[in-house]
Amino acid sequence: MTIKEYVAYRKSELTSLIKELNPLPKLVIIQVNEDEASMAYIRGKIKDLQTIGASFEHVKLPLDISEEELLKVIDKYNNDDTVDGILVQMPLPKGISEEKVKEKVIPVKDVDGFHPMSKYIPCTPKGIIDYLENEKIAFSGKNAVVIGRSNIVGKPMAKLLLNKNCNVTVLHSKTTKEDLEFYLAHADIIVVAVGKKYFLENQKFKEDAVIVDVGINRVDGVLYGDCAPDRKVRLQTPVPGGVGLLTRLSMLENLLLCYKERRGK
Ligand code: NAP
Repeated sequence: MTIKEYVAYRKSELTSLIKELNPLPKLVIIQVNEDEASMAYIRGKIKDLQTIGASFEHVKLPLDISEEELLKVIDKYNNDDTVDGILVQMPLPKGISEEKVKEKVIPVKDVDGFHPMSKYIPCTPKGIIDYLENEKIAFSGKNAVVIGRSNIVGKPMAKLLLNKNCNVTVLHSKTTKEDLEFYLAHADIIVVAVGKKYFLENQKFKEDAVIVDVGINRVDGVLYGDCAPDRKVRLQTPVPGGVGLLTRLSMLENLLLCYKERRGK
């Protein structure tokens, strides 16, 4: 199944589930930037919420809001029983700590899975594992290489793959070119989350390898992945129309989990 087909199928399941719920699950999206990419992400999230029939509130705050005021707004929604999930769109203006904001959202409403005590898996790694499972990709004993070690993608991705009994290698900016090539040539599953257009291109891959391309690189208004398209492998996720859609789907699924957890349904 392509990612588009998979996401459409999962969304139709979510729509049916949500139809049965009263009250509807409600997400609050807090925006404190006018970043072009963030606006596009928020539009996408709102469209998804409308598609599955969930309820939402889009809160736009002034760009010069102080950290203290922003934390107060988050607290208001933390204490609002009608709200099931809270999402603060990153990046935040300079002077506001992303860590403090992530830790302010209470874990039971943390749809992003960013809180250190969150019960929920960060959306991008969750979406990737769920899709690979649906594609019946084998994990146990396989060599997985994760390139990038950010807190929102690389690290949680490596942990999930390890939990699936993969042999996991995490590579980063200090990895030598020779080691990168060595590990890639032996990899069954490659997750690349570096943020550099076509970072992977001419390296050797196993013919039955799976390449999951997390990168979103906007160059002159066009989106490119971290891997050049059409590598000779078993499966390569496209950009656009790949991991971004899986991430959006996971957020909806996490919202439903928040709803069930808090309301005991
Ligand atoms: P990030 O926080 O900037 O982390 C990038 C990682 O890449 C770092 O760990 C860095 O290593 C590593 N890196 C940089 N240069 C490298 C090199 N030459 N060789 C090996 N590793 C290198 O990025 P992120 O938030 O994880 O995002 C990565 C990409 O995924 C971006 O394009 C972002 O837009 C995209 N993204 C997409 C989605 C989606 O839904 N599709 C979601 C999240 C992110 P060091 O730790 O050593 O600096």
